Amino acid sequence: MAAPNPNECGVQVFCRIRPLNKMEEANQSQFIPKFQGDDTISLAGKVYVFDKVFKPNTTQEQLYMGAAYHIVQDVLSGYNGTVFAYGQTSSGKTHTMEGVFGDPQLQGIIPRIVQDVFNHIFSMDENLEFTLKVSYYEIYNEKIRDLLDVTKTNLSIHEDKNRVPYVKGATERFVSSPQEVMDAIEEGKNNRCVAVTNMNEHSSRSHSVFLIQVKQQHSITQKQLVGKLYLVDLAGSEKVSKTGAEGAVLEEAKNINKSLSALGNVISALAEGTKSHVPYRDSKLTRILQESLGGNSRTTVVICASPASYNEAETKSTLLFGQRAK
Ligand code: ADP
Ligand code: MG
Repeated sequence: MAAPNPNECGVQVFCRIRPLNKMEEANQSQFIPKFQGDDTISLAGKVYVFDKVFKPNTTQEQLYMGAAYHIVQDVLSGYNGTVFAYGQTSSGKTHTMEGVFGDPQLQGIIPRIVQDVFNHIFSMDENLEFTLKVSYYEIYNEKIRDLLDVTKTNLSIHEDKNRVPYVKGATERFVSSPQEVMDAIEEGKNNRCVAVTNMNEHSSRSHSVFLIQVKQQHSITQKQLVGKLYLVDLAGSEKVSKTGAEGAVLEEAKNINKSLSALGNVISALAEGTKSHVPYRDSKLTRILQESLGGNSRTTVVICASPASYNEAETKSTLLFGQRAK
C-alpha cells in the first residue's frame, strides 16, 4: 500500500459555486463571481485562491474526482480524514455531500466514497481482512443525537486511554457492502426527520456527522491498520440577524456560530501550522474531530456558495472562511 505524500496531509480547501436558482432568477439577481484559471475566484473586486474552484456547471463526478477521490486511498492506508461542506443554507452542502442517492449522475461525495472504498477492498490482497463500521449522529444545540438509535438523544464525549476524544455509546453498525452503508444512512435520515416538524429548518441548524471506520488486518503478519473518515454536512453559516431571531431560535443560532467559529479557528490554526494551541475544546464538533483534523490526517473543506448578488454578503463571508483555512 502506498502511503500518501505526508506533505499532502493538512488542510485542502475547495470552493463550489452552484448555479443561480429559480428564486434568485425571479428576483433578478445577477451572477456576480468571476473565475480565473481553475483555482481563483473574485467577488466584488477581491480575489480568493483555493486548491480548486468548481464552477456551476461542474458535475458531481468532476467534483468528487477533483476534491474527494484521493481520500479513499488515505483511509485505506490507515490515515484519518474529515470532509466538511460549509456554507449558508441552500448553498449546495447536502447536494455536494449526499446528492441524490441511487442516481449515478447526481449522487454526491458520500455514496461515491462508499462505493470506491468497497471497490478498493475487493481488489486488494486477499490476506487482508477488512472490518468496516459506520456511525451517524447529529449535533444540534451542542447536543449529540444518535441517528442510528433514537433512544440516544444526548451522547457525551469521552477520552480513550490515549486521550483521544470519542462519542461514548454511539451506535457502531458493522457493514459489508455499499448497500448496507446506504441503508444505514437512509435509516438515520428517516430517524432525523421523525423527531422534527420542519426537516429543512432542522437540517440547516444542525451538523450531521457520518463516520466510516475501516480496519484491516493481515492474516499472516497480523499487522493492523485503522482509518477513520468523518463526512460532515455543517449547519448553515448564515448570520442570524437576517431572520431577526429571538428566544430558542437565537439560542440555536448562538450554538451554531460558536461551533462554526470554533471550527474556523481550529482549521486556521492547523493551516498556519500552529502546534502549540489548537482550540479543539471550544465546541463538541471540534472535540469529536480532534483526532481526524490535523496531525497525521487530511482535512478537506468544500465551501459552497450562491453566485447571486442577493447573497453577496453571505458568499463573501463563506469565501473568507475558506481563505482562513488556507
Ligand atoms: P444546503 O444543504 O446547503 O442547504 P442543498 O444542497 O440542499 O443546500 O441545495 C439547495 C438546492 O439547490 C437543492 O435543491 C439542490 O439540489 C440545488 N443545488 C445545490 N447545488 C447545486 C448544484 N451544484 N447544481 C445543481 N443544483 C444544485
Ligand atoms: Mg442541507
